[in-house]
Amino acid sequence: MKYDRPLVEIKKLKKYFPAKKSFFGKVTSNVKAVDNMSFTINKGETLGLVGESGCGKTTIGRTIIKLYEPTDGQIIYDGTDISRFSSSKMLPYRRKMQMIFQDPYASLDSRMTVGDIIGESIDIHNLMKGKERQERIQYLLNKVGLNEDHTNRYPHEFSGGQRQRIGIARALAVEPEFIVCDEPISALDVSIQAQVINMLEDLQDDLGLTYLFIAHDLSMVKHISTKIGVMYLGKMLEMAESNELYQNSLHPYTRALLSAIPVPNPDMAAKNKRIMLEGETPSPIDPPPGCRFKDRCRYSMKRCSEKDPELKDMGSGHYAACYLYDK
Ligand code: SF4
Repeated sequence: MKYDRPLVEIKKLKKYFPAKKSFFGKVTSNVKAVDNMSFTINKGETLGLVGESGCGKTTIGRTIIKLYEPTDGQIIYDGTDISRFSSSKMLPYRRKMQMIFQDPYASLDSRMTVGDIIGESIDIHNLMKGKERQERIQYLLNKVGLNEDHTNRYPHEFSGGQRQRIGIARALAVEPEFIVCDEPISALDVSIQAQVINMLEDLQDDLGLTYLFIAHDLSMVKHISTKIGVMYLGKMLEMAESNELYQNSLHPYTRALLSAIPVPNPDMAAKNKRIMLEGETPSPIDPPPGCRFKDRCRYSMKRCSEKDPELKDMGSGHYAACYLYDK
């Protein structure tokens, strides 16, 4: 399948949170959760976004769908710059852009029935009423592998995997085009993870959905992603088509993450040498100049401390931000 029509274009996006204020209330330092990131997600594709906890991947997901207001930069959705849209102007876009949350326990209101949880956004957007609304809820339950008997039950009566299915049905209720899947399988048993991934893929084929799929390690995004981005401390360090990234990774950080994926075959595992990262991830509060990965990089050189390397196309749409590949 050819994915060549941009649906989500992110240009120099920043999301900072104030970390310290002066006596007079002026912000003196910021947590730079997302710092000057640019990328495109084409219609119908899945961008897998990977990085350690605290790298800013959830923040960028929330900023794209405007749960957070961007500090600077542009979010262009289907050709329209929505970066500065007010809440009322965002309303039609809220329908097109949905989110599936990581924690299927905390993200569902325990006092609401499944039918009410799924029906809530149908009501907010005033899409349908009465029998039509009821039929839509039943259709959605079937679509995620549940059935109409579940409509009047409460979240606590379901397993983690079933709750995540309810969360997915809720996201689908308003017929979105784009869904931010924020670590949707991280809290689930390994045995359930593949089922949820397969279901998301089937729904994508059926409904023509576009996904931003956020995960904390590369093994989780391999199957579902068309292309993969690797984030570190608010920056994109590498991005490429899924197979290209796994077979020809360039950035030292990506290589370290790939080496940490368990290999089931013992012979292959013996050959696969794990690259151990030394040191801690630096603080995202006003990080010093230069490459954000320099304190943990075995190839770090003088210029790596002077200026941040730009994310550059190294050929055939394989992007990396590293001076090792400067031509
Ligand atoms: Fe390592 Fe320098 Fe490349 Fe950063 S720019 S990953 S410090 S070699």
